[in-house]
Amino acid sequence: MNHFNLEGRVAIVTGGNGGIGLGMAEGMASAGATLVLAGRNAEKGAAAVSTLEALGAKASFTILDVTDEAACHALIDDTVAKHGRLNVLVNNAGTNIRKEPEDYTLDEWRFVLDTNLTSAFVCCQAAFPAMKKSGGGKIINIGSMFSLFGASFSTAYAASKGGMVQMSKAMACAWAKDNIQVNTVLPGWIDTELTQGARRDVEGLHERIEARTPAGRWGRPDEFAGIAVFLAGTGSDFVTGTVIPVDGGFAAQG
Ligand code: NDP
Repeated sequence: MNHFNLEGRVAIVTGGNGGIGLGMAEGMASAGATLVLAGRNAEKGAAAVSTLEALGAKASFTILDVTDEAACHALIDDTVAKHGRLNVLVNNAGTNIRKEPEDYTLDEWRFVLDTNLTSAFVCCQAAFPAMKKSGGGKIINIGSMFSLFGASFSTAYAASKGGMVQMSKAMACAWAKDNIQVNTVLPGWIDTELTQGARRDVEGLHERIEARTPAGRWGRPDEFAGIAVFLAGTGSDFVTGTVIPVDGGFAAQG
């Protein structure tokens, strides 16, 4: 058996229209999966679909705001109706508001938690019946180095990403009997639109990350292709509830 062959598998990637999500989608597309990308920006979505089709994959884009519970359910239901199944769910959509803890409004706190964590909970709940019915599934949740560490500007984001890990572990325990594996990937510092904002807002961040990362550089979205294929395929059937950094050694450095 080729554990890295995803032919016949259907995968949803929220926020798959750019950055790390698209890097994961490209990996799974190259391995033969059919991809359903979802996000708010249709232009980025169309470009991402073209990228995946150029790899020979079937791909589509759905406009979705992950904070809209009904829309998340509709995305899952429509995917199952169109493709007959859902094998892989990647909860990747994420955002950040960088402030000192005392400066957040409750609306800002809720916005980050709703986008990063509650959306993943909603999508997992929505995906569960279809995965269970088809005999199993793979859920890949995206955490962060802020699942492990803190920073003065990361209160809401760190809470959401720490919560992602614990939510995933609990779901892994609950759904192992249904052959659904739930794992969390922790990206290190990766060059994307999100971190271009961080580098603008946080003085000296770019250089500090280069110095702190054993690999000596920022990561690239395409470096998430491999972990996505592994966690989406049969090679990870006994891997669940784990937390896997993809970080150039950032979390290993004391
Ligand atoms: P990007 O900004 O490139 O990607 C974020 C994606 O999330 C976008 O495609 C965006 O789509 C989507 N998104 C944001 N809000 C919503 C929403 N409300 N509804 C639907 N889609 C939404 O950044 P990254 O690739 O860096 O981020 C991807 C994930 O990786 C996030 O969860 C982030 O927290 C995490 N991460 C990133 C790190 C890094 O260094 N880059 C480090 C650690 C974790 P659209 O524009 O269409 O709204």
